[in-house]
Amino acid sequence: AGWSVCFRRHFSTSPSRLQSCMSAWVIDQYGTNGVLKFAEEITVPTVNSPSEVMIKVHAASLNPLDISMRGGYGAKLLKLRRDPMSVMDNNNDSEFPLILGRDVSGVVVDCGSEVTHFVPGDKVWAAVPPWKQGSLAEFVTLTEYEVSHKPKLLSHTEAASIPYVANTALSALVNAGGLCRDSSSNKRVLITGGSGGVGTFSIQLLKAWGAHVTVTCSQNAEGLIRGLGADEVVDYTAGDAHEQLGMMEKFDVILDGVGGETEQWAIGLLKPWSGAKYVTLVTPLLFNADSMGLLGGMFQTGFTLHSKATQNIISSGVFYRWGFYAPDGPALDEVSKLVDAGKILPVVEAQFPFTQVPQAFQKLEQGHARGKTVVRVA
Ligand code: NDP
Repeated sequence: AGWSVCFRRHFSTSPSRLQSCMSAWVIDQYGTNGVLKFAEEITVPTVNSPSEVMIKVHAASLNPLDISMRGGYGAKLLKLRRDPMSVMDNNNDSEFPLILGRDVSGVVVDCGSEVTHFVPGDKVWAAVPPWKQGSLAEFVTLTEYEVSHKPKLLSHTEAASIPYVANTALSALVNAGGLCRDSSSNKRVLITGGSGGVGTFSIQLLKAWGAHVTVTCSQNAEGLIRGLGADEVVDYTAGDAHEQLGMMEKFDVILDGVGGETEQWAIGLLKPWSGAKYVTLVTPLLFNADSMGLLGGMFQTGFTLHSKATQNIISSGVFYRWGFYAPDGPALDEVSKLVDAGKILPVVEAQFPFTQVPQAFQKLEQGHARGKTVVRVA
């Protein structure tokens, strides 16, 4: 695939016309870290529809999805979402050059004619959907609905650590888990994989909502997790996490960020016949589409979800659900208020300059995250 070649031009009028090309980290094929390339001649994503907002990126952050997408994970379904006509031609590589990076904190530089909530100069944050060009670039363009005013108390670097995990946690806990600000008081929630991006955010959100929060994590993350407000912490590396959790009062909701074997024992920790819900973030949706094709993958995914949901509701009266990231600017508005009220803190474990994006990917790929890895772009 050829990169869009453009020539840097400088104008003195509207900010959106300041330049027609930008720097970005792109991939033009899937693979390991070596496929990441710094490119200076990428076409600026200008506002193309009345509801779009163009943002100058100040900071971005990385998520496990970036590592997976770099390797081609989800390519079939995401390509279909980007360009429905691509289904006619399996071999086209229309997604390249692809820009990764799902979080942005930055400043609005241009708005479509129907944008009502933002004006140029606003400081904003957002989680960029994986079917759109990402935030490891000087500019990103999103629809107004996906964007929110960033918390006033946070720097761009701190703010970039939150949107994607916040949109994921809120979608999973509210839409799939049935929790909300007014219904969580004294609900018993278990979070597995609590020391990573989604976990460190979810603990704080649930505590702000009044829930009782139990977390599984490695022993060396216990101080961090307790500092974020967790009520009970179980060290899964000690080997008997399942037994320790089994001795506790049962749970109303489980948010599973680990998946695999965890699913097999975690469901038994829910209160039976009480509407309790198990929500896992580790789903086979994109993997199935990659490995079985769009139609076969969708069929297999639907079958798996339906059979697990049916089996659990019949055997113990608990709901089995999948949680997904969903873009949602208004949800980020609520998070912004909680951050400015001091109820949610950013958990930034590592920061990298824009020149060191491959090093940031390497850090994330090593695993054992304790919060988020952020890239300073501007
Ligand atoms: P991170 O990589 O930030 O965090 C994962 C954390 O889990 C690490 O702190 C790790 O630390 C810990 N961990 C690993 N194994 C276990 C275990 N067996 N028990 C308890 N903790 C464990 O990931 P995120 O928080 O960003 O995401 C969590 C999961 O959710 C990922 O699988 C991600 O792909 C998925 N996800 C799914 C989304 C969706 O739309 N469905 C959206 C966002 C995320 P350590 O190894 O040191 O214990």
